[in-house]
Formats: sequence, structure tokens, C-alpha cells
Amino acid sequence: MCGIFGYTGNKSASDLLLQGLGRLEYRGYDSAGLATVSENGGLEHLKSGGKLSNLIKLIGTEPLTGNCGIGHTRWATHGEPNDLNAHPHGNSSADLFTVHNGIVENYFDLKEMLVKEGHNFLSETDSEVIPHLISHFIEKGFGLEKAIQQTASAIKGSNTVAAIHSKNPGEIIAFRVGNAGGLTIGIGIDEMFISSDLPALAEHTNTVHFLASGQVALVNSNGVNFTDLDGNKVNLETHTIEKNTLFAEKDGFDHFMLKEIMDQPESSMSSLRGRLRFSPYSVLVPEVPLTSKQAQEIKRVVLLGMGSSLHAAQLGALYLEKFARIPAVAEDSSEFRYRNPVIDKSTLVIAVGQSGETADTLEAMNHAKKYNAKIISVANVEGSQATRIAEGTVMMHSGYEVGVASTKTFTGSLICLLLIALHLANDRNSLSKEELSELTEQLTHLPRLMGESTQLNAGTFSNLAKLYSKMRRFLFIGRGLMVPIASEGSMKLKEISYLQAEGMTAAAMKHGPIALVDAETPVIALATNNEYRMKNIGNMNEVLARGGSLTAVISLGDDQLESLVTNALFVPKAPEILEPIIATIPLQLLAYHIADYLNLDVDQPRNLAKSVTVE
Ligand code: GLU
Repeated sequence: MCGIFGYTGNKSASDLLLQGLGRLEYRGYDSAGLATVSENGGLEHLKSGGKLSNLIKLIGTEPLTGNCGIGHTRWATHGEPNDLNAHPHGNSSADLFTVHNGIVENYFDLKEMLVKEGHNFLSETDSEVIPHLISHFIEKGFGLEKAIQQTASAIKGSNTVAAIHSKNPGEIIAFRVGNAGGLTIGIGIDEMFISSDLPALAEHTNTVHFLASGQVALVNSNGVNFTDLDGNKVNLETHTIEKNTLFAEKDGFDHFMLKEIMDQPESSMSSLRGRLRFSPYSVLVPEVPLTSKQAQEIKRVVLLGMGSSLHAAQLGALYLEKFARIPAVAEDSSEFRYRNPVIDKSTLVIAVGQSGETADTLEAMNHAKKYNAKIISVANVEGSQATRIAEGTVMMHSGYEVGVASTKTFTGSLICLLLIALHLANDRNSLSKEELSELTEQLTHLPRLMGESTQLNAGTFSNLAKLYSKMRRFLFIGRGLMVPIASEGSMKLKEISYLQAEGMTAAAMKHGPIALVDAETPVIALATNNEYRMKNIGNMNEVLARGGSLTAVISLGDDQLESLVTNALFVPKAPEILEPIIATIPLQLLAYHIADYLNLDVDQPRNLAKSVTVE
């Protein structure tokens, strides 16, 4: 879940490490630290609780010396986010430092053994066993490389680690076991980098290797060698990444989140690009790795995801059932992987995730593989682990997303899932040519409709934010395709404003949650002009009759509903299949404005991190 960055070359490592960590801070931001080694083997380290800015202040104008080093920005799992628990952690003689992403599941036993041997621990973290264990193997007579391989095999769980040692100045040794986040090796000229993600490397290089599970990288300024955990040499492909996809700036917006919400007309266009055919209209997603015959043989689809991606998966299941006529369910990846699910080679598994590094989803994909299910991933990060497990990946092409609460990658996922559903509908002949043509034509309007949705309510949010920032909790309701959007709207709000919110079907509200409705519990209804309109009106009246404040997302021009509700948020009139995608935007903006009014850290909300690489 953390960010790891490393540098070895002829420049001052400490400056480059701080810069790299700045780009990785979205991955974890409760504490940060660096360790460097200079040519003569001198090791220095510095760490600090709190955000990276604390570490930068601490370093001040005096960078650590050394041209080789590792840095870490943490998302604590074991032990408070204070100075001592921050990474890097050292061994007892402080001649070795490591940074770690993941959870050492057997740390308790290992620590007990190491303490008995006389190792001196300073922190409460699981991570600290790693440098001590490496030392333990060195004391047994192994060289550093072998000691690291032994350590990688001895620790349980999913872990990514980078280490420097005073005896090997200029060298970083890193390994990855399982799915605790990726590690990318960046190749420069007489300098090399390691990073948890690609964008942090963008200003240095676009030529990279991706470290896979079970691999060790020995990096020095001239290059890198890879081995497996037994020390056998491994050859890794070199990838060249398109540079302009890797940078992100706020472009004049106060926050990345707002910029990313406003990016959606363009990012939706990128998700559609190259996947629509115009004469005749149809959808073709070449990344779906199934022939028409194989598509016809699919009996069931299981969509996997966590958080916003689970909400996207829920809508994906509805699209697949509606258009491709395949039984489809969305499942929480973390639960799926521990079951004995009824799936086989006739099951298509679609794993949804923006980072492609979500540990729960990666493990669920591996689990599905054991049953010979066909696996597709929907992801936004090229080369991420999910793309390597899946047989085919439908990339969102949403662009780099910095805000921790996902916005454009959520709508990007929805678009990809809709495209997959229509692609399969074509292969399975579940829609007539005319129906498919009409739906494809409708899709071409999406970027424009997204654009209108970002603008329509511009004047409304400041008053609403003022009013709603004082409320106690919120109920989000919807029907049909809007149900997952109600869940997503409620999650956006709680993630960044810390206000309690729940999403549910409109009908479910009256089976319990309606008891909460009072003057401090607004209901946010998704009530666009579709087949559920009259039913929604019924549910909204139930709220009003109990003195609740009612805000509804309604279609522009629906005067009747506008006069019924307390506050209206408009979306343009749109075809039913696109309504959930465009209705997401006012809910994102509502959450954003409430959090901003409360002066909260919108881009880096407390306790969260962008890609959750621990289970
Ligand atoms: N489990 C480790 C800790 O709590 C690593 C956390 C992380 O990945 O940032 O320090």
C-alpha cells in the first residue's frame, strides 16, 4: 500500500528520493523516510511521522549524502504512524536498511526467534523483522544476495522489499513475493531507479522492467540483473512507456479530485476511442480474448472488485445481463478468494480495478484461475499485475488519477464494462443489429453529456455544501441501473467528508433505514426520467412526508420533479444506458464541495490510500 522509490547513479540520491516520494504520496501518507549509502559505505537515514512535508522540513537544506538510496511513504498496518515506525528500518548494527510494502504474516514468530538471538528491535512494525532476518542469514554465513533470497522465502504473505547495505554501496536489492504492489525498475543513462508505480519515473525515464512475484532485482547504476528466489538468472522484458500518459498536474484547479472530475468528458472519450465502429454502428473491443464461439459458450460472468470498483462491477453485471443475456454477479474479491465458488471454464471472470494492484482482487483472480475460468481485467495502469494475470485487459485509458477517491477511473470502469457487454452481445447475437446500432450511436454522445453534467449545477453546490456539511448522515437511493451509483455516491461522500452515508435501493429504504430520516438526515435520490420515475416519486414522497430534506438528481426539464424536491441536481436528458454514468458526476461534485467547504484534505483523505495492496 505504500510508495517505494529508489535511486542509484551519480546525483544526490536524497533529492531524487524526496521528489519520487512526492509523486507516490497518494499511495500512503502517514509517515515517510529515506536511507542513503555513500561510496565509502557510510549509511544515513531520516524518517518522520505525518506527511512527506514533515520529512522535507526535517531534511531542510542539508540533503543526506550518498548517490544511492531508498525511500518510503507509509500506510501503516502494524504500529502507529510515528517516527519510529516509519520506514526504512535497519538491523541491529545499522549497516543495512530496508523499505517494505505489504504484511509479514508470520512476523510474530520471526520476531520472537530474532529477539532470542539478540536482535534489537526499535519499532512495533511487522516490517522490522526483514532487515534483522537478512542479518540473521548473513550471520549464518550467506552472502547478501543469498540472505535476501532466504528472507524472501521465509516471510509469509505478500511483500515487496528494497534494501541497501553498507558493504554494497551503489546497489539496491529488491524483491517481490505475492501481490503487495508492483515494483518498476527504471533504466536511465548511468543511473537506475526503482518505483512502486510508473508516473513517479516519468521525468527520469520511460524504459522500464516490471518485477513479478518471486523475482529479485539487483540494481546498480549500470543496470539490473534479475534472479528468482533460488538465485537462477531470469530475463525480463524491457517496456517502453508512452511518456505523455504519465504526467499529472492540477491545471489551475484547487485539487486533483476536482480536475479529475472535470477531466471526465475527455477521459470518457479516451475509454471509447477505437472501440466503436461507425458503418454500421457496432462495438468491438479487440482486447476481449474470446472468439465468437467462446463468447457463446460462456454460461456465467463473475465480476470482481473492491470499493468503487465493486460498485462499477455491480453496474457491469446489470449491463451484461441486460444486453449480453448472461447471468452475471458482482462479488467482493476479498470474500470470493476464500470460497469454493461454483465456477469452471464456462465462467468468464472480469476483474475490475483502477490500479491493477489491489491485493484482494489479484488474489481472487489467481483463485479463479485454479478453476480454469477465463479472466479479463479492466484496469487503468499499463503493465500492472492484474493485466499480467488476465488473459486480456480492457484498459480504461482514463489518464493518471492522483485524487485518492477515484472519479474518472470509476466512470472509465463503467464505460469499459458497458463496451464489454455490447461486444459480447454482438458475439452472442443477443441483440438485433438495429438494437446494437442504436446503442452504439447513443454511446457516441457520452463525452458531450459528461461535459454538460460537469457544468449544469455550477451555482448550486456552494449553498448545498454549506447546508449539508452540518448534517449527521445521508441516505442515497436509486433503482435499476442507478443502484450501484447510489452506493458510489455515498462512498464518495464518506471517503472525503467523513460524513456517514449509505447507498441502497429506493425500495429497501422503507424496510429499515427510513427510521433514520429526520431534519439532519438528507436523502439523495437518483430520479432521472426513466421507467422507474413514478416509483421513485413514491419513495421521495415518503421522505418528504417524514420531514426529510430531499436532494434529487433529475433530468433537465423535469419541472414536476424539480418542484417536488428540496434541491435539484440536473443531468442532461440521456439514453437510459448512459444515465448512471452521467449521474455519477453531480454526486462526485456534491462530495467534493462538502469536503472542500469543511476544509478537509480532499486529495489525500485520512486513513486511506489509493491502491490497497494489503489484504
Ligand atoms: N506493514 C508495514 C507497516 O505497517 C508496511 C505498510 C506499508 O505498506 O506502507 O509498516
